[in-house]
Amino acid sequence: MNRGIQKMVAQKALVIGLGESGRAAAELLHQLGAQVVVRDEGASEVLSQRSEILAKKGIRVELGSGVQQGVDADIAVLSPGISLEADMMKPVREAGIPVISEIELAWLYFQGKTIAITGTNGKSTTTGLIEEMLKAGGMKAEACGNIGTPFSDVVMKEDPVDVAVVEVSSFQLEAIDTFRPDVAVYLNFTPDHLDRYQSLNEYRAAKDRIFVNMDASQKVIVQKELIWDGLLPERINFDVSGGDAEYQWVDGMLIENGEPVIHQSETSLHGPHNAENQLAALAVAKEMGIDDAARRAALQSYQPLAHRCEFVAEWNGVQFINDSKSTNPDSLRKAVEGYASGVHLIAGGKDKGFSYADLAELLRPRCSAVYLIGQMAVELERVWKQAVDCILCRSLEEAVHSSAAAAKSGEVVLFSPGCSSFDMFQNFQDRGNQFRQA
Ligand code: ADP
Repeated sequence: MNRGIQKMVAQKALVIGLGESGRAAAELLHQLGAQVVVRDEGASEVLSQRSEILAKKGIRVELGSGVQQGVDADIAVLSPGISLEADMMKPVREAGIPVISEIELAWLYFQGKTIAITGTNGKSTTTGLIEEMLKAGGMKAEACGNIGTPFSDVVMKEDPVDVAVVEVSSFQLEAIDTFRPDVAVYLNFTPDHLDRYQSLNEYRAAKDRIFVNMDASQKVIVQKELIWDGLLPERINFDVSGGDAEYQWVDGMLIENGEPVIHQSETSLHGPHNAENQLAALAVAKEMGIDDAARRAALQSYQPLAHRCEFVAEWNGVQFINDSKSTNPDSLRKAVEGYASGVHLIAGGKDKGFSYADLAELLRPRCSAVYLIGQMAVELERVWKQAVDCILCRSLEEAVHSSAAAAKSGEVVLFSPGCSSFDMFQNFQDRGNQFRQA
């Protein structure tokens, strides 16, 4: 279904940012017949390579600083890495050109059903679980968006997909206009991205835009405690703390409308946070008409993604767990909550503007020691040292060696940084790989 902007994009389009989603948006627009220009202020090997690929297709790419003057376009497609307020956007704002995000563009031209997943944590895990359940039920489904493949690439597939399972970040939601998923999942909301947003309210407002075009004919699957005024779509709740909800987790059993589905111990995911992800996925797949056997089979076969509480090795009776995807205080909390004691926690990284003082009481009984790295090391030591032994380390390697030397058989070395990786690493994958290596 073409949802109606064909005329608008068929002429001149400007794509801002040449990440993977910018590259995919440019190709989709080009395929739709638009005259496309891509701009990115950066200059790197990766950008040059991407730009060569696009140039061969006849798409103009402007790289480097000083590209922001003048703009001649009917529409601008904004990459998630760039804020609407960025300097690069100034000429676009001044010219009054409509701006949409890459997921909006893709959705406008997608023929199948769209499931959108947002929340502070658990998006990738839930997106992957939903994809697996839909496939187990015989649907042609594909996980896309923030999780890896851009939504626009899915739209361009020669062999069309029935359902796009789209992991949606608040950055993508900032610039949606008419985007309306058939089913939305809103997993949770906790502090994150205070390096991009002025306040938590602003971050929440961006995330809440997932509902902006939804009405009573669509479904939204949400954590029970999350409250909105005037939420229109029909709400299905999940709850793992003993409250009343359509989807519950009681003594390890995942429950749907009062009926047990499967015990979590039969799956490869563990802990209450993963129960939330599993319940949300069950609810979505139910909405999509997938039968019980297929949903259960997918829960059993799904393997945790790398860098999310991933078991790496056991050495002298000590387990090493890589949770490098932990980039905010709540994911750190969830990782540590999985243990009663004996944790040697490695944490720290780039400052995103959060307070970590509240975590001290959680760490006190559970952590034998904490090894701190990166820009936040000294601040974390300041707020945690009353509760737990803190050791400042100059590198991740040093933290791994110190924790491995100190941990006793039966204890665990848990790498759950709770901060972003960009002070010392390329990204969370690079950081997790370096932990594995060490
Ligand atoms: P996202 O895509 O939202 O970043 P991931 O599934 O990649 O989510 O998990 C990111 C981090 O959050 C990991 O450290 C993981 O252990 C933790 N996590 C996963 N699910 C949840 C949840 N429902 N609530 C809180 N933390 C979670």
